[in-house]
Amino acid sequence: MNILLMGPQGSGKGTLGNKIARDFGLVPVSTGDLFRQSIAKGEKLGLEAKTYMDKGLLVPIELTLGILADRLKQPDCQKGVMFDGFPRSIEQAEALKKITDIDHVILLDVPKETCIQRMIGRRVCSCCGAIFNVETYGSEDCDKCGGKLVQRDDDKLDAIKTRLEVYEKTTAPLIDFYADRVFVVKGQEDPEDTYRPVNDFLKGLKK
Ligand SMILES: [Zn+2]
Repeated sequence: MNILLMGPQGSGKGTLGNKIARDFGLVPVSTGDLFRQSIAKGEKLGLEAKTYMDKGLLVPIELTLGILADRLKQPDCQKGVMFDGFPRSIEQAEALKKITDIDHVILLDVPKETCIQRMIGRRVCSCCGAIFNVETYGSEDCDKCGGKLVQRDDDKLDAIKTRLEVYEKTTAPLIDFYADRVFVVKGQEDPEDTYRPVNDFLKGLKK
């Protein structure tokens, strides 16, 4: 069973994905991680992808599919995977069909304003990279290493708005593309409340 996890940045998709992967034994697959792993292992396709990434270019879809196909062949993926962040456009979804199917799409629905609110509060430790939220964390310094917390440029309002616009324009159309297999869950304040209906849904499928 392959799942695609969808939701705008700031929706809490990462937290939800961790719970799904943990409880249902699905391997999380994001192309960013795949590229990094493939490059680290010195694989031919990974190194080819790196030449594009180093120039700040998108990795061509055929190359991405090649790396993905290699990953999906590995034994740990045989139970299924949870795609996160790929496909993120109709074009990529069409391409993915050549190597595998998406059985179910979990769409995390969170109002745009809430996403903005969450992302704007994000701070990163300038020393160790730990992530904090100013709304819940009261200090200017990292509690792990004492480093200064900073707001990254892409967590500033304009950059956040641009990312959400790109999501609306290129990724949200996937909801129609996968209309026959989308399960929508409304994001709640407590991640456990968000997860419960998803857990019920996925458990129901296994019967
Ligand atoms: Zn730190």
